[in-house]
Amino acid sequence: MNSQNLLKLATQFGAPLYVYDAEKISSQFQRLTKAFSGVGSLRLNYAAKALSNISILRLMNSLGSGLDTVSIQEVKLGLMAGFKPESIIFTPNGVSLEEIEEASALGVQINIDNLSVLEQFGSKHPDVPVCIRINPHVMAGGNSKISVGHIDSKFGISIHQIPHLLRIVDLTKMNINGIHMHTGSDILDIDVFLYASEILFETAKNFKNLEFIDFGSGFKVPYKTGDIETNVEELGNKLTSRFNEFCKEYGRELTLAFEPGKFLVSEAGHFLAKVNVVKQTTSTVFASVDSGFNHLIRPMLYGSSHEIVNLSNPKGKERYYSVVGYICETDTFGNNRRINEISEGDILCFKNAGAYCFTMSSNYNSRYRPAEVLWNKGKAHLIRERETFDDILRNQVDVKDLFKKPKAATVK
Ligand SMILES: *Cc1c(COP(=O)(O)O)cnc(C)c1O
Repeated sequence: MNSQNLLKLATQFGAPLYVYDAEKISSQFQRLTKAFSGVGSLRLNYAAKALSNISILRLMNSLGSGLDTVSIQEVKLGLMAGFKPESIIFTPNGVSLEEIEEASALGVQINIDNLSVLEQFGSKHPDVPVCIRINPHVMAGGNSKISVGHIDSKFGISIHQIPHLLRIVDLTKMNINGIHMHTGSDILDIDVFLYASEILFETAKNFKNLEFIDFGSGFKVPYKTGDIETNVEELGNKLTSRFNEFCKEYGRELTLAFEPGKFLVSEAGHFLAKVNVVKQTTSTVFASVDSGFNHLIRPMLYGSSHEIVNLSNPKGKERYYSVVGYICETDTFGNNRRINEISEGDILCFKNAGAYCFTMSSNYNSRYRPAEVLWNKGKAHLIRERETFDDILRNQVDVKDLFKKPKAATVK
């Protein structure tokens, strides 16, 4: 979708606004499917936590995607969006046995990431097929904030605990039907990823009833020019041949599964915010928008760099700006950005705003969360209304009778 369309949507629906391009989501889904077309049975389970609006989930379902969920609430959203229970995998970490049992009772595939719950669940429900999340202790990417495969990571069952894992499976007679890993949020180095896959294959040989092997996610998409992007075609080629070879060795055709979040929705998302103030200080020019980390926290939380463009003045001369928010905190979206000259009232667009943007938003400073729009076949569909003051008050209990202001007369 082009800048003019985005600008029109900002006028029609107001700012701040999230806009998602259905066609981009669909083309990313097709691209990944094509990269692995050499696999007999492929499952892509969209990671709902990246962008969990029910209309987005419906779009994913229509594309033939499955759903990767991390909470019972995401499971319920997925079911409401029309996913069949068997198309949903529940991959939480650190949740209670009760929550896992609740998800299991709804018929979704359970993925367990620790020995304690595995032993309890297996003892109570030996007939329910369970996937296990392995930690291969491989770091993908260099940023320890988003790599979850390393030795101190809380995610998954360590490969060094396989003997204990096998003992539990043996004693409970539970049925392990899948093996899973999710090494981190960035697959930068395909060889590192393939190395981790070998550990997964090695682990898989211990289980006779597998139906699938789930390689998690970590597909990297470019956020700014010059960013490295996962070469999914190269990964597809290399992993496909290795996977097919493993299936022969294993003696049965298995399903190859992935759980992409960012890859499917990041680039489809545009966040539009209006410039409230242009402020010149002794050292910089600030452009303050009607937003902050209450709406888009990734730059402040992860240091991610979202490209920012001025939709209102695309031909204006470029100047350096610090783009900041209106929250009473340091909420810098970008420093030293060259942007077409900004005037108060202009609409700025933050790119790559599909994944982990709206879903991480909050009401900090008692601000409303933005509206969301889905752009499909040249038409805009409102998929979330902008919040109102009632939303700020919702669930708050006002104990007004507890605290009475002393009457003026009694105060001496
Ligand atoms: C978050 C998550 C994903 C999605 O990761 P992306 O980097 O967004 O593709 C996949 N699997 C699991 C288990 C996750 O927690």
